Amino acid sequence: MYTIKGKTTEWELVIGLEVHCQIISKSKVFSGASTAFGAEQNTHVSFIDAAFPGMLPVVNEKCIEQCVKTGMGLNAVINKYSRFDRKNYFYADLPQGYQISQLYHPIVGEGFIEVTTSEGTRKIGVERLHLEQDAGKSIHDMSPTKSFIDLNRCGVGLMEIVSKPDMHSPEEAGEYLRQLRAIVRALGTCDGNMDEGSMRCDANISVRPVGSTELRQRVEVKNVNSVRFVMEAIEIEAHRQVELYEAGQTFSQETRLFDSVNKETRPMRSKENANDYRYFPDPDLLPVILTDEYIENIRRNLPELPEAKKKRYVSELGLTPYDAGVLTADTETSAYFETAIKGQDPKKVANWIMGDLFAFLNKTNIHISESPIKANQLGALVELITNGTISGKIAKEVFEIMTQTGKDPAVIVDEKGLKQVSDTGAIDALIHDILAANADKVAEIKAGKDKLKGWFVGQIMKASQGKVNPALANQLLEKQLDSWS
Ligand code: MN
Repeated sequence: MYTIKGKTTEWELVIGLEVHCQIISKSKVFSGASTAFGAEQNTHVSFIDAAFPGMLPVVNEKCIEQCVKTGMGLNAVINKYSRFDRKNYFYADLPQGYQISQLYHPIVGEGFIEVTTSEGTRKIGVERLHLEQDAGKSIHDMSPTKSFIDLNRCGVGLMEIVSKPDMHSPEEAGEYLRQLRAIVRALGTCDGNMDEGSMRCDANISVRPVGSTELRQRVEVKNVNSVRFVMEAIEIEAHRQVELYEAGQTFSQETRLFDSVNKETRPMRSKENANDYRYFPDPDLLPVILTDEYIENIRRNLPELPEAKKKRYVSELGLTPYDAGVLTADTETSAYFETAIKGQDPKKVANWIMGDLFAFLNKTNIHISESPIKANQLGALVELITNGTISGKIAKEVFEIMTQTGKDPAVIVDEKGLKQVSDTGAIDALIHDILAANADKVAEIKAGKDKLKGWFVGQIMKASQGKVNPALANQLLEKQLDSWS
């Protein structure tokens, strides 16, 4: 159990996460404007997004479908009745003066995400998922005296996924986020890119003495943009609270920012009471009513979810839970793996993917979907090792050439003459020459210095440029040494 040992008391953490996921859809949630990322400022803005008087929002059906899918991925209740509310506040990048959200009747109710940490597997409760619109973007760093507004993002659909205060360590919160990201990616409902802001996390953090069940004053740390930073922010904020309590101080409910450079949280604003938003039902929008048929149709077409896939990799393919977790973290990786293992030993393929391939992709910053080595080619490489055509050592060399040329491994082996030598006559001759040239060392072996055999195997491998099967070389060496005189 993760705790913070203070001077007088041992403390545990209580963490809840609110995650905003940008919905994958061609157009915005209440207008027909494009959601494409990276366009010129203020070019993807309809009259609705710019809040011209008299404009009427129309809900985008695709966004509804994406919420329902995600709800199913969260093992959650899909609410057949949901409704939109206006959340009123003023900000320059919110031309309407309110955000359309769902307070009282969210489209998705309670569910859970299964999370595996070093302490085991737990279900983390999900309180709700609601559909809302994003605000525009304020740009403060283009001029020392002016701020600029880009409304391209204004009105893009968001799913806000609120967890229960069920997490008790930075690790657990990190795994929850990773798992959530894997789910939305598998479903194609959000791209999950935290660094581009399409997934944004607010963490609610409080501490309490170990053993207590109270919920103490919480602090919200806003807009943390990577899993690692969320974990760091939680740890740092929890320590800050422990120090305050132990110094006999109190603090109020507030919103803070995480400074990832100075490793501290800083006050942003004191938390407005939710009532200050003066929520009321949006008079321009009808409630969303879903039929059983609509919901079941989506359920039938749901792809395999990461958790189910992970369990299948462990039970059917014999992978460790850790390896299965890594390979199911996103759909491209699992698709790559599943193509590569056709006819191959899954464990060997997993080792190549998580070892050499990931190392190469990380180093070159290439995504697996753009890997110069295609999945079937990696499978073919493993096949060449399995059937004895090349040794594991030569395979590393072939792999290297594959990353540079994209050629099939068999072609590279042919071109470079890398085929393992299994002609025992040729190997015998090679061994004979080496033994003859090193008669002194042979004598030492005969006198009992067994360790030197390894040196001979090394010489054989070297003389054959690694093309002799090491097991075979060993066997033939022993045979010749026995009869050597
Ligand atoms: Mn929100």
